[in-house]
Amino acid sequence: MKTIVLKFGGTSVGSIDRIKKVCKIIAFYKKNKNKVVVVSSAMSGVTNELVNKSKLISNNFDRAEYDALVSTGEQVSCALIAGRLKHNGFKSRSWTSWQLPILTDGPYSGARISSVGIKELNKYIKSGGIPIITGFQGINNDFRITTIGRSGSDATAIMLAKFIKADECIIYTDVDGIYTTDPREHKKAKKIKKIFYDEMLEMASLGSKVMQPTSVQDAKLNKIDIKVKSSFVFKSGTLITGSKKTFSNQIITGISSTKNDAKITIVGVKDRPGVAASIFRPLSKNLINVDMVVQNISQNGKETDLTFTVKSEDLKKTERLIKKNKSISYKKLSFDRDLSKVSIIGVGMITTPGITYRMFQALALKKINILVISTSEIKISVLISSKSVKKALAVLHKEFKLD
Ligand code: ADP
Ligand code: ASP
Ligand code: MG
Repeated sequence: MKTIVLKFGGTSVGSIDRIKKVCKIIAFYKKNKNKVVVVSSAMSGVTNELVNKSKLISNNFDRAEYDALVSTGEQVSCALIAGRLKHNGFKSRSWTSWQLPILTDGPYSGARISSVGIKELNKYIKSGGIPIITGFQGINNDFRITTIGRSGSDATAIMLAKFIKADECIIYTDVDGIYTTDPREHKKAKKIKKIFYDEMLEMASLGSKVMQPTSVQDAKLNKIDIKVKSSFVFKSGTLITGSKKTFSNQIITGISSTKNDAKITIVGVKDRPGVAASIFRPLSKNLINVDMVVQNISQNGKETDLTFTVKSEDLKKTERLIKKNKSISYKKLSFDRDLSKVSIIGVGMITTPGITYRMFQALALKKINILVISTSEIKISVLISSKSVKKALAVLHKEFKLD
């Protein structure tokens, strides 16, 4: 008898009709003599609505109350799923994070699951029950509710699979697997059968929002294989794994893109030790995430230009913080909005020369201007105008034989 964790995302449980369909999938696994544990997200749109409400109450909403608020959507969907399963004659009940408990470390809104209480859960599963567990939420040492980052139900499923020693962990979503690029952005995107954790981690971190990046990290650390499938159509999905067996020699596995990036250049800052730290210290204190950073070579040994990117919604705040930073001096600030980062990802890159040239040449032939470049062992990212993203995805998809 296998133990299987099934996770359903927001769109999969987005309406009463969808919840009824999801219950049929759960019933299928149960009838096939599996022990089934379910994790659910909130119904689609619900978490966003709660976030908006917090903003209307206060522009400085208490962080602990924020988590108590935005985690409530999951309780609704889980109760509805359990209620429907009972209606259909199954033994089922919902569980919230404090009832298990799901313990977390770290800050509100960005906590990480450290352990999951499985005693009662195991008893219940053994008695034939189907537990339905709220994704996204946990509790901390102060017995307060925490959340584990947007899209965090993925991580709840993976950590549950770890603690109950599940044989399988299946993430049900609204696409039938991981594609070479977002299938909603590029029609020629192809489904990937198997993908390494490291590649998935880069794709997720670089804008492919199909999996939460932290959850892929959890899966990698705990060696949990993940299957990604559609709850809408019955099709084989994608396996996310660390196994090196049976992989093709594809160089580039996927292409990711972001939206709403902004670029800031500080012209003529003093070129001396500690300046970059002085610039970024207040940004870090204000939880502004700085992404790509480039420092130009100093022209005269005294001054240099520093360029970096942040999310567009953080641009105004970043500008304010730089302008009021008394520990730096500079000649000019310049800003660019409506930018996107396009990245090619693949472990094959490590052993194949010439990939950077092919990427830049393909973009140049389409007259796409590159503003900033950053690389790692298995990815190359370029910052371009958001207007050119569709064209860039298409040309790179073709260049690296993903079409
Ligand atoms: P869920 O609500 O099930 O958690 P998400 O919205 O978080 O679903 O993730 C699914 C979405 O991810 C898809 O609808 C798709 O548009 C998007 N996506 C982005 N990049 C990719 C990719 N490379 N492969 C598949 N889907 C992707
Ligand atoms: N409901 C939460 C969110 O919208 C968590 C999740 O869907 O995984 O971010
Ligand atoms: Mg998701």
